[in-house]
Amino acid sequence: MNTVYITNKDNPFIVSLLKEFFDKISVFNSFADFSTQEEVFDSVIISSNFEKTKIEDFVKKTIRTSDKLFIVPIFLEDNGTFLSHENVVNLENIKEHIISVKNLYKEIEHHNYSSWENRILSYFYTRPDLSVCPKIDKNHDMFYYYPHVEQFYDGQEDYFYWMEEMATQKIFSKVKLVDRLFCCPYCFSALMKFSDHCPNCGSINIKQERFVHCFSCGYVSPESKFMKDERFVCPSCKSKLKLIGEDYDRPLENGVCMDCGNYHIDSTLQISCLSCSKIFTTEELSKKSVFEYKLTEYGRNQIKFDTVSSTNIIASELNYIALNYFIFTLNWSIQMQKRYIDSYFSLVALKIIMETEFSVYDLLVEFSKLLRSSFRTTDFCSKIDNNTFIFLFPKTGATGLNAIKTKIDTFLGSIKLSKGQFNIKTEYFSSTQENIAEENSQQILSNLTNKL
Ligand SMILES: [Zn+2]
Ligand SMILES: [Zn+2]
Ligand SMILES: [Zn+2]
Repeated sequence: MNTVYITNKDNPFIVSLLKEFFDKISVFNSFADFSTQEEVFDSVIISSNFEKTKIEDFVKKTIRTSDKLFIVPIFLEDNGTFLSHENVVNLENIKEHIISVKNLYKEIEHHNYSSWENRILSYFYTRPDLSVCPKIDKNHDMFYYYPHVEQFYDGQEDYFYWMEEMATQKIFSKVKLVDRLFCCPYCFSALMKFSDHCPNCGSINIKQERFVHCFSCGYVSPESKFMKDERFVCPSCKSKLKLIGEDYDRPLENGVCMDCGNYHIDSTLQISCLSCSKIFTTEELSKKSVFEYKLTEYGRNQIKFDTVSSTNIIASELNYIALNYFIFTLNWSIQMQKRYIDSYFSLVALKIIMETEFSVYDLLVEFSKLLRSSFRTTDFCSKIDNNTFIFLFPKTGATGLNAIKTKIDTFLGSIKLSKGQFNIKTEYFSSTQENIAEENSQQILSNLTNKL
């Protein structure tokens, strides 16, 4: 077993123990020294003498992004005691754990690991018993974070969304509901400031008072205005108010605005998000559930046969997948249609013809937002060349396609097309068992795009 030990403290005793236990041990005295080496190790042991943030940084930036090392088990060593960086593992099980990770990884090592999503999925695959637990931390916007995921996550988009997407696709199961948090409806941050305001003028200069309601004349005012020589005297009709329930009572009002004089029953609660600075009311608050997740058997199979990668990219804003994944998905739809008569799918091809220099990126983003908001997470978008986009709508027949066509036409009609500068062409295809009988995905795609 080829193990690396990174330590900033010279401790020959620990090194000899490690050598005895792991057969082969390479010692590095700093993270920088390790980063320049090329060897492949089965596991990495890091001395806990290093600063915690330096260790996290090293794990994230050096190990979990490395093509050769991202999967290895990492252990922390503290005065000869081993603490697993990921889950608690007994010393006697350490070797077993390393071998098990190595063997499981062999089943999937030929896959593409260029994205953090693929890397973390294979990490979960090689640790079948691992539960992906959230940890609480006040420095995170959501107060919770997933230490396992943060080792891999590249910071591009909200990974909570990705986890949710994986659960929707049944790749993960939700093992336990850990918490439900109120959060900002705009950015989902839970870092919010609450303040109460006058419902009339919005001022924060309000205070709580006891109120009195005079039965003789109906006058309502804070108690302080009725006080005269230790007794209640109505400032309006001058009646002496002696008995509660007979002369006066306590109305529901209990707030006074010091700026506009307004009396109110309830002040208005205003919330400002500390992350995005937006202001909103309690009715607008979002609620977000925090779960403990686990890889499902179905998810394990999807990872093993590398089919999850074709769907996980839809978690990105664009609903966009690489063309080879698109073709893979289209092939799948064709096979389904061949077997089941009403397993229809539809395609939309779109070409943007430009006469001047013009960025189609914004247009694509807008268009993908339309897809995302109007359609389903199972719909896909890909790019055939720089100006030609293709959209796949699984489980959508001719009727469904017509509805999509209307939506697309409305969208295209609503964007400002400066005539003469560019033009958009669309082509539509809806499957039946007959029209795909002799076709494969490449032929269908080229038939469709050739008409553009
Ligand atoms: Zn006011
Ligand atoms: Zn009165
Ligand atoms: Zn916000």
